[in-house]
Amino acid sequence: MEYVKSKIRDVIDFPQKGIVFKDLTTVFKDPQALNTIGKALADLYRDKGVTKVVGIESRGFIGGSILAHEIGAGFVPARKPGKLPADTVSCSYQKEYGVDTIEMHRDAIGPDDVVVLHDDVLATGGTMAAAYELVKSMNPQKIYINFIIELGALGGRNLLPAGVEVTSLIAY
Ligand code: AMP
Repeated sequence: MEYVKSKIRDVIDFPQKGIVFKDLTTVFKDPQALNTIGKALADLYRDKGVTKVVGIESRGFIGGSILAHEIGAGFVPARKPGKLPADTVSCSYQKEYGVDTIEMHRDAIGPDDVVVLHDDVLATGGTMAAAYELVKSMNPQKIYINFIIELGALGGRNLLPAGVEVTSLIAY
C-alpha cells in the first residue's frame, strides 16, 4: 500500500481555497497501483457473501467496479439527480454550503442482497451517510462501507451509522 500512497497526488486549493484534494487519477493510471487496490479491496470483502457493490458518482465508480468484478458481485451506481433513466429513490443531505442529493434506481437493491457501499474518499461523511440511508431503505441483508482514502481529521466516521463495519485502505 506504500506504493499506492506514493502515487496519490495532493492538489492544493482544489476545488476551492483551503482544500487539499487527494487526486487518485495518478493512482488509477499506474498499472501496479491499480492492481494493488483491486486486490486489497477484494481481500477485504471476498468472504463476506457480497452480492452488490454500490459506487458513488463519480470517482466511486472506478474502485467500486473493480471490487465488484474481483469478488464476483454486481455493480450499482449512486448518481447525481436526473442522471438515472428509470424509477429512482433519492436522499438529500447538507453540505458545507447548500444541499445535495443522490439517487439510485428503485429496483437496484433487494432484500437478499449483501451490499458494499464504496467511495474514493471519506471527508466529512455526508455523502456516504446519505447513500447509506438510500440503500438501507431498500432493506438488504447487510451493508458494509468502504473507502480507498479516509481523511481522519475531518471526523467523517462520526456521521456514519454506528455498528456498520467501515474500512479504508489508506488513512491520513
Ligand atoms: P464528504 O465530505 O465525505 O461528503 O465528501 C464528499 C465527496 O467529495 C466524496 O465523494 C469525496 O470523494 C470528495 N472529497 C471530499 N474531500 C475531498 C478531498 N480532500 N480530496 C478528494 N476528494 C474529496
